[in-house]
Amino acid sequence: MPFNEKYTITPAYLTTPSKRRSGQIMSPGVKFIVAHDTGNPRSTARGNRNYYENSRDDMSASAHIFVDDKEIIECIPALTANKQEKAWHVLYGVPTDNQLFGYNANDAAIGVEYCYGDNINADESYRKYIWVIAKICFTYGLDPSKSIVGHCFLDPRRKTDPVTGLLQSRRTYDQLLKDIVIEYNECTGVVASQYTFISLQGSGKVQHRLNVRKGAPTTKADVVQIISPGLSISYIGYVTNGETVNGNAKWYMDAAGNYFWSGAVE
Ligand SMILES: [Zn+2]
Repeated sequence: MPFNEKYTITPAYLTTPSKRRSGQIMSPGVKFIVAHDTGNPRSTARGNRNYYENSRDDMSASAHIFVDDKEIIECIPALTANKQEKAWHVLYGVPTDNQLFGYNANDAAIGVEYCYGDNINADESYRKYIWVIAKICFTYGLDPSKSIVGHCFLDPRRKTDPVTGLLQSRRTYDQLLKDIVIEYNECTGVVASQYTFISLQGSGKVQHRLNVRKGAPTTKADVVQIISPGLSISYIGYVTNGETVNGNAKWYMDAAGNYFWSGAVE
């Protein structure tokens, strides 16, 4: 069974041995994934990796992979090498990783960091983020519906990631978990849930800047057109089980087979 290699993962390993990259191998192998965000708006994947490298002996915090809208960069070997090394992305003292998965995250989990901010295209960064997490599940035989946990759930007194980073692109943690499963199914060829189309011609007035998405009722699809508020837009039907945005899963389809979210149209 192949996996759809939509994106490239760029290795840019930190110097080892160093505080951030000890070179230690993940002892039980890869058992789960911790979803992080950088907590530092506007910082890029490349910028974070370079900061790690430049401060590699100043402190030990690290993560395996950084994702922004342009790049997926692996700075501790995880997917792009034959060995999987430990990164220091969750405190050893917290109990929840052991309770949920039977291991400390640093020993058995790949840490993936989401980059966000007004200089980063949130949709594109998010697409790459869910893809690389789905790819880790595929590579290490992990169940995509059970193997991902947010850093904030492991260390709730100190951390809010990735909830805060996702919020900046109006996405929730629950949506992230669902989208990873959908992405996994799409990339492995398992057919994702079918959209139920209802024919109904009509038109609406655009209330907020509207993205028209190519071929699918989801914010993961490419934007083919942007419509300004106040303009009118026509549709030939709708689905009620597209991606849920602000609690609303209804999307209209235009004559070209592209979709726009109903919440932005009156
Ligand atoms: Zn984190």
